[in-house]
Amino acid sequence: MQYFFPDSQDLVDPSFDFETERRSIDRVRQRDDVYAHELFSRAAYDGLLVSKAIVDGIGAGAGRYTLGQRQRLLREGAHRFFRTRLPIMGDCGAFTYVREKTPPYSVDAVLDFYETCGFQAGVSVDHVILDYELEWDTPRKTPKDVRERQEITLTLAADFLKRHTRARLSFKPLGVAQGWGPDSYARAVSALQKMGYDYIAVGGMVPLKTREVLDALSAIDRVRHRKTRLHLLGITRLDQVGAFANFGVASFDSTSPLRQAFKDKDDNYYAPDRTYIAIRVPQVEGNPKLQKAIRAGQVPQPLARRLESACLEALRNVDGRKRTIDAAVQLVHEYEQLFDAGRDNREAYREVLTDKPWLRCGCDVCKALGHHVVLFRGAERNRRRGLHNVWVFYRRLHRELRAVEAKLPAKRRGTRASSELRFAAQT
Ligand SMILES: [Zn+2]
Repeated sequence: MQYFFPDSQDLVDPSFDFETERRSIDRVRQRDDVYAHELFSRAAYDGLLVSKAIVDGIGAGAGRYTLGQRQRLLREGAHRFFRTRLPIMGDCGAFTYVREKTPPYSVDAVLDFYETCGFQAGVSVDHVILDYELEWDTPRKTPKDVRERQEITLTLAADFLKRHTRARLSFKPLGVAQGWGPDSYARAVSALQKMGYDYIAVGGMVPLKTREVLDALSAIDRVRHRKTRLHLLGITRLDQVGAFANFGVASFDSTSPLRQAFKDKDDNYYAPDRTYIAIRVPQVEGNPKLQKAIRAGQVPQPLARRLESACLEALRNVDGRKRTIDAAVQLVHEYEQLFDAGRDNREAYREVLTDKPWLRCGCDVCKALGHHVVLFRGAERNRRRGLHNVWVFYRRLHRELRAVEAKLPAKRRGTRASSELRFAAQT
């Protein structure tokens, strides 16, 4: 099972000094900043997923690419642009235009984008269905707009494959199945197989509960041809890897390991068997709530500044002794009350400072950063922690896959790995 990491230009600056919080004055972002696959000496994913909407900067995908970067990607091709030989899959980024009546892209524009970038695989143009309603599987109960979204997606998939074949394009085409319940997902997969697809991306599952995902995959499995492989768009469940493998899932993509590092309330840092909170020490200037309180005269700025530096200092001095841990936790708690009054993370902070999970992590981020990796502070730290999570996630995935493999009868072992799609990345 292959993990594709969705690109949203999450690069880090190798010249950033975590003690002084300064960058090299010679730094040129686009030349010097590095991707996760350049940051780690061992792999953190099997390939990249690049969305047209993010590259074009439409809707929720806005602001990731500058015009210059967009032009360079199209001119140089994706492998030179991303400085990698890993396989790259393209999609449209349908979540960014989920509110529109129809997708903003023509099939030709998308085929052209994938081919110009030199991707190894490309997902047909689709339109996300967010709802999951079992009773809509009774045909007369299906809302018209939901049915239309599935029809649009299937019509575009048929067109996509026809034009792909006619133009003899080199990338592997994936058709998208959108549905609102098990039966409708299965119907979409049947239709795509009839068109000629044997690699099918299942979309719209991001909001679904695990049970619903499994029900839909199980219904799909009843109509799935043996050689048909699935890609799960935007989702994964590490505890269900075995079930997914049995349902023909060959690949998936997910940003959640990255995003949890700075979006989640308390599961910010991944360890092999659990997660930890990251310690909130925002920059006074970088925290909107704190800035608001200062402007409103509720918090004196010098006090905020003093507490911020005191926190950093105390965290630097944590040496494993209870006294130093308690002192740091108390200061951080005091500082936190200025921008998140009433929140009490002391127990969780004490735990992460006592366990020091970064000392046991084999990733390059933890080795280089030490305790800075668990500080919730500024993009350079937060993004690196996110990439560390991706690295740990990839190892957890492989651990799960090995466990699934070990449970198979001896004669079937190894068959799954060999059935995975192999790409030859062009550079
Ligand atoms: Zn790490």
